[in-house]
Amino acid sequence: MQDVKISNSLERAVLVGVTHKNQNELETLDYLDELELLAKTAGAFVVKKYIQKKYFLSPSTFIGKGKINEIKEFIVANKINLVVFDDELSASQFRNIEKEFKCKVLDRSNLILDIFALRAKTSYAKVQVELAQYAYLLPRLTRMWTHLSKQQGGIGTKGPGEKEIETDRRIIRKKISVLKQKLQKIDNQRKVQRKSRKNLLKISLVGYTNSGKSTLMNLLTKSSLLAEDKLFATLDTTVRRLYFNNKNMLISDTVGFIRKLPHQLIESFKSTLDDILDADILLHVVDLSNYNFEKHIDVVNKTLLDIGASKKKIILVFNKIDKKNIMENLKLAELKKTWMNKGENKSVFISAYKKINIDKLKKIIFN
Ligand code: GDP
Ligand code: MG
Repeated sequence: MQDVKISNSLERAVLVGVTHKNQNELETLDYLDELELLAKTAGAFVVKKYIQKKYFLSPSTFIGKGKINEIKEFIVANKINLVVFDDELSASQFRNIEKEFKCKVLDRSNLILDIFALRAKTSYAKVQVELAQYAYLLPRLTRMWTHLSKQQGGIGTKGPGEKEIETDRRIIRKKISVLKQKLQKIDNQRKVQRKSRKNLLKISLVGYTNSGKSTLMNLLTKSSLLAEDKLFATLDTTVRRLYFNNKNMLISDTVGFIRKLPHQLIESFKSTLDDILDADILLHVVDLSNYNFEKHIDVVNKTLLDIGASKKKIILVFNKIDKKNIMENLKLAELKKTWMNKGENKSVFISAYKKINIDKLKKIIFN
């Protein structure tokens, strides 16, 4: 299995989340778990997670002075070299917090952009990620001139930032427009490609990151795409031919969705998401073993709505039913009853890994 080497040595990280009027403690804990997975994917070792309950967020340091001091002590005592905030920080918040912590500070968007940058394999994905990075960078340019981490390297520093410290907004805007033109060119080629496939039935795999899309794609097409227990293992849409019931069709694996995805990324990945718009049937793959699976379904549905794909024929594919915790805690039979009667979408319960109920899934697809 292919593995992406993300960092030379594990960075020791502290994560910070806040509860506020729109996000209770349980939700924050949940976000922090996900942030930990992101940090691990980027190559960090999470030493501690902090939550601050705060109704009014500080415009200068985001969290309160007391919390800042508490974390500062921990950083020194535990040789921490990275602090990741679950929420987007402004340029001045970054600056002030870095001044206090004297170590690298990132937010969730930084982390996601960094992982995307590492995972982008094709020139198409690379252009899209670069575009998103510049769009993220633009309002934060002032930060770059004083940014400690640029000299230190590692997570969060693979963006264009390091090369652009001396550059100004004008140059970045120019780069953005060049990248957009590049993207447009590739888009046009893809449009032509898509047209040539007009008469084939097209199926697209969508779903939260790590739900098992690539595993299912591999199973259905007997191919070997990268499937990993890491977030965003797949960045490019992969299209494969599928022959079933005397019919030729196309199936595509897509990039996964996640909460608090930087909007610059969604913007620049719009064209990748166009493959979803082009599909006749969407297989919405859900990791049933994740206790937040219902929230994940909501995020995916909302994203589908955003890109205008919510009216398509969608099949809910509940995956990973082989996992022990499902049998023990969730009562599969109950779940089936509720979900199979819910809404107009058909659903099926499978294990892509243990190849359970794959025939059922195929039947639903072709009926
Ligand atoms: P993607 O991000 O949606 O493409 O997810 P992947 O296909 O890369 O799978 C993510 C992880 O879940 C990998 O470690 C897979 O081996 C694992 N996985 C996928 N399907 C199943 C399943 O049915 N059962 C179990 N136990 N693990 C699965
Ligand atoms: Mg994948």
